[in-house]
Amino acid sequence: MKELKRFILVGAPASGKGTQGRFLAETFNLKTLSTGAMLRREIENCTPLGQKALSYMDKAMLVPDEVVNDIVRGWLVNDNEEGWLLDGYPRTVSQAETLDHFLAERGIDVDVVVWMDVSRELIEQRITRRRECTSCGNIVQKLDEQCDKCGGQMVARKDDNLEAFARRWKDFEAMTLPVAHYYEAKGLVVKVSVTEEREPQEVSQELLQKLEEYSNKR
Ligand SMILES: [Zn+2]
Repeated sequence: MKELKRFILVGAPASGKGTQGRFLAETFNLKTLSTGAMLRREIENCTPLGQKALSYMDKAMLVPDEVVNDIVRGWLVNDNEEGWLLDGYPRTVSQAETLDHFLAERGIDVDVVVWMDVSRELIEQRITRRRECTSCGNIVQKLDEQCDKCGGQMVARKDDNLEAFARRWKDFEAMTLPVAHYYEAKGLVVKVSVTEEREPQEVSQELLQKLEEYSNKR
């Protein structure tokens, strides 16, 4: 049986990745590295990397591989002994190859890649149903007009429209899905497929069971 310490989490936007990521971090005692959060911190601290990243984000361009790779490398050098979960990275096969190379130099490997495989139809359904409270920020998956926490007004979120989603899905299919296949070819993927709406806890339990089976076989 293999101890699972080094995780990568892959999934489409609104696939429930955030929720399952928190579950994995708690269950396996992992530090989560979200490249989005990391980039924001570098920018806030005005580091050279942050300034470089900002120059691309200002132009609404994707931050290039080399900048993201540097940020992740810097983080991994300092947190080598601990378990970790990478969320939002690697985002491209090129980033995955760089990561593999970097880890191999240090004599370590990715232990498992968790793939949240949620159907496009279901994600579209989630996005069109999602409502946010204008007063307290409460987010629900139902078409309420009034917040059940504070009574505030519920509205659709600005980014929650099918047009914006179609663009993000295209990026996901073109860049990130190949990352899942790249690791699948190495036998490292544990995939949870969700085609009908289920409770997040139920999905977590299925994920945990699959991870146990996976680690027993290794
Ligand atoms: Zn509210």
